[in-house]
Amino acid sequence: MSIIFDLHSHSTISDGVLSPAELVEHASEHGVNVLALTDHDDTSGLEIAALEAKRRGLQLINGVEISVTWKKCTLHVVGLKIDPEHPPLKSGLAAIREGRHSRAVSMAAGLDKVGITGSLEGAYEYAKDGIIGRVHFARYLVNSGISKDSKAVFKKYLVKGKPGYVEHEWASLEDAVSWIIGSGGVAVLAHPGRYDLRRTSMLVLLEEFRALGGTAIEVVTGSHTGAQYVEFAKYAQMFGLKSSVGSDYHGKGLSFMEMGRLPALPNNCVPVWQDWPEASLLCKKLSANNALELAL
Ligand code: AMP
Ligand code: MN
Ligand code: MN
Ligand code: MN
Repeated sequence: MSIIFDLHSHSTISDGVLSPAELVEHASEHGVNVLALTDHDDTSGLEIAALEAKRRGLQLINGVEISVTWKKCTLHVVGLKIDPEHPPLKSGLAAIREGRHSRAVSMAAGLDKVGITGSLEGAYEYAKDGIIGRVHFARYLVNSGISKDSKAVFKKYLVKGKPGYVEHEWASLEDAVSWIIGSGGVAVLAHPGRYDLRRTSMLVLLEEFRALGGTAIEVVTGSHTGAQYVEFAKYAQMFGLKSSVGSDYHGKGLSFMEMGRLPALPNNCVPVWQDWPEASLLCKKLSANNALELAL
């Protein structure tokens, strides 16, 4: 009996399309047993998600995905098993969200210059009460008929060098890791295969991440190829880091991978949940249920 872990996902609190409760329902329907909700820079979906998870017999892990700037490169660090009430984490995330607002104002100014007006208000319509990010601008631009889909809009307007892209200074790697660890959580480097880093820089990053107290890297994630599972499993082994698994689900058609469909970690990986008591408890529960079913 194997447990299905999905330790990276998004709700409407950040740039996903399902509410926290709907996301838990979706995970449950797709066979996920342990789910981490990891909204960008915001933990306010965790409480409702936990209630829904309890109702559905799914184990919810409190998570967050923190935006970081490391040597001019934007990285994402996932915190798992965090305490969202830990004051430095809370105030650090609040500061990042403030920065998101000022970045959004500058992004809208950039789009104004190429004749696209009203994008700030438009993007906020999609962000509702959650964080504001590039995805909300993308939704506004697509729905105003400016581009045909999100992929096209990112390419033309929202990536480096394009009118709606703004260089932004996120949290430092040191702060992000220390907020996570300080709150009792574990720090996981998200989707390392997505960063535009040469091998030497990747080695420096992993060394620094580990020295700061980072625990794991995502090896199996929705945006990695099969070859990258193997590549990052090797990096994890090389640095004595554990490995994590997550779909990075944002909604139907918006993610590289549906929930509950990720392959298992390569054999040489030590799972990030190796010493989590809730994982072994769940394992016992599932095998007890299984034994009961077999006996009936
Ligand atoms: P932000 O943190 O506001 O800069 O937005 C980053 C988010 O935008 C990521 O988490 C993805 O959800 C989304 N994203 C980034 N690049 C792309 C892309 N090329 N196409 C579609 N979505 C993207
Ligand atoms: Mn996102
Ligand atoms: Mn990310
Ligand atoms: Mn993500």
